[in-house]
Amino acid sequence: MSKEVISASEMERYGYCPLSWWLGRTGVDAEGSEVASGLEKHQEIGASLKTLLHEEHKSRETSSTLLAVVLYIGILVLAALFILWHIGSNEGNIMIIVSLFFMLGASFLLYRLLQSTERVDKLRDDYKLGEGEIEAPDDLTAKSPVLKSDKHNLAGRPDYILHEDGVRIPVEVKTGRRPRAPFFSHVLQAGAYCLLVEEMYGKSPPGGQLRYGLETEPHTVEWEPKLKAIVLEKLEEMNDALAGRSEVHRNHNRPGKCQNCSRRRGCSERLDKPPAGGNT
Ligand code: SF4
Repeated sequence: MSKEVISASEMERYGYCPLSWWLGRTGVDAEGSEVASGLEKHQEIGASLKTLLHEEHKSRETSSTLLAVVLYIGILVLAALFILWHIGSNEGNIMIIVSLFFMLGASFLLYRLLQSTERVDKLRDDYKLGEGEIEAPDDLTAKSPVLKSDKHNLAGRPDYILHEDGVRIPVEVKTGRRPRAPFFSHVLQAGAYCLLVEEMYGKSPPGGQLRYGLETEPHTVEWEPKLKAIVLEKLEEMNDALAGRSEVHRNHNRPGKCQNCSRRRGCSERLDKPPAGGNT
């Protein structure tokens, strides 16, 4: 098997057109305004998720500090009462006054916690994220779901993973308008992530999610045997090509596909003919 690891996003390209993937592998860069705007939108989506994760982190920190302060107040009050009842010295009164100051601090922390929880709930609602824990790439949190499978010569990093009750669902966020049904190439990529989750965590996910922007309902891609068979078949084809056992060519007859292809300028098999003398 080839040592050149295939990424899940390469599988998406392969699903669009095998030749587009191959051109990318051989140094033909994707170009066009859609590529730049796609990158920009992806960064915006990353920033939105980062805000949410930062807010959740702050909320957890405030909650732990509040718990510690309440515990401290409890101990202080008990100690003060003990001193007042059994010793009767003035120190008990001082401790009660100190506890009151701590209570003020605790009230402030509680207020901050409520505000932060409200913000988190709103962001989760806006982004339709449910209750699950979000495992995101390491530039967002310490948990980095870089998934790898030596067995399949595959690696990938979904935009994030939803983790709830031991179940992990990989999520890929796409830019552009939400289609009625997800494109084959996107489904293939989601399938690649499902395969990686299955391999890495030893448990099959029920499926993956494809999101077109963060504020629309996600499409669910079921991780069923048929999709797994397709993912494995495509992986085998790609590994064969990388190992020099097969050649890669266009696998469709759709000029519109070539028209929208970001590598059409470097492609000798494109179906949309450039205007005479032109190079677009
Ligand atoms: S221009 Fe057409 S044939 Fe060439 S890589 Fe793109 S989609 Fe494939």
